[in-house]
Amino acid sequence: METPAVIAENIRKIQAVIAASANPEAILVAVSKNQTVEAIKAAYDCGIRDFGENRVQEFQSKYPVLPADIRWHFIGSLQKNKVKYICGKVFLVHSVDSLSLACEIDRRAGQSGLTVKVLLEVKTSPEEGKQGVETAAAPLLVSEILKLEHLDFQGLMTMAPFVEDREPIISSFRALKKVKQIIEDTGETAVKYLSMGMSDDFQIALNEGTSIIRIGRGIFGERRG
Ligand SMILES: *Cc1c(COP(=O)(O)O)cnc(C)c1O
Repeated sequence: METPAVIAENIRKIQAVIAASANPEAILVAVSKNQTVEAIKAAYDCGIRDFGENRVQEFQSKYPVLPADIRWHFIGSLQKNKVKYICGKVFLVHSVDSLSLACEIDRRAGQSGLTVKVLLEVKTSPEEGKQGVETAAAPLLVSEILKLEHLDFQGLMTMAPFVEDREPIISSFRALKKVKQIIEDTGETAVKYLSMGMSDDFQIALNEGTSIIRIGRGIFGERRG
């Protein structure tokens, strides 16, 4: 891991970029997947309270040993049989990508008398292997999610393509904004959060009006393994 001093410096720089951007209120989620508890504590000591994990097992090992005021964001693909391990523990699930997953979260949340905040993950670029629902399918799926009593729909998430060029990245973020517009035009719900922007493209995302950025390497350095 990077030293606590380097982590602190990285966070300070990113926070300065956010503060000077068109979206100074954007939430910085520190993506702590593959990072040690010590590295997470170093970021926590800098005032970071939002952390993102993408694997249930890893989340389960970290959750009990870290401070209770952390807001955990689940950002990875989620198998239905693992929903029970995160319900009631995470602040926001970014990666709902099917009605069946939404229904399973709703069912588990209902059993525990909870409401789970979720984002719908949308595929906004043609890149192979990208997660998420197609843009055209997203509005209808949101309508279905709104019917689920124990889910609280909060917005949309996407990952831009991993390319050097700015253009495809901008198009990807704009595609997500267009989906937001289409959903809001139906009058059914507001889209509170757009979760878009990672270490290499968060400045573009801030320009495009993101409300949550998810940064791993830019804070903690390159991941192990
Ligand atoms: C790993 C990951 C991130 C952070 O990626 P970096 O390039 O390290 O900033 C953000 N979002 C998701 C969904 C991820 O899996």
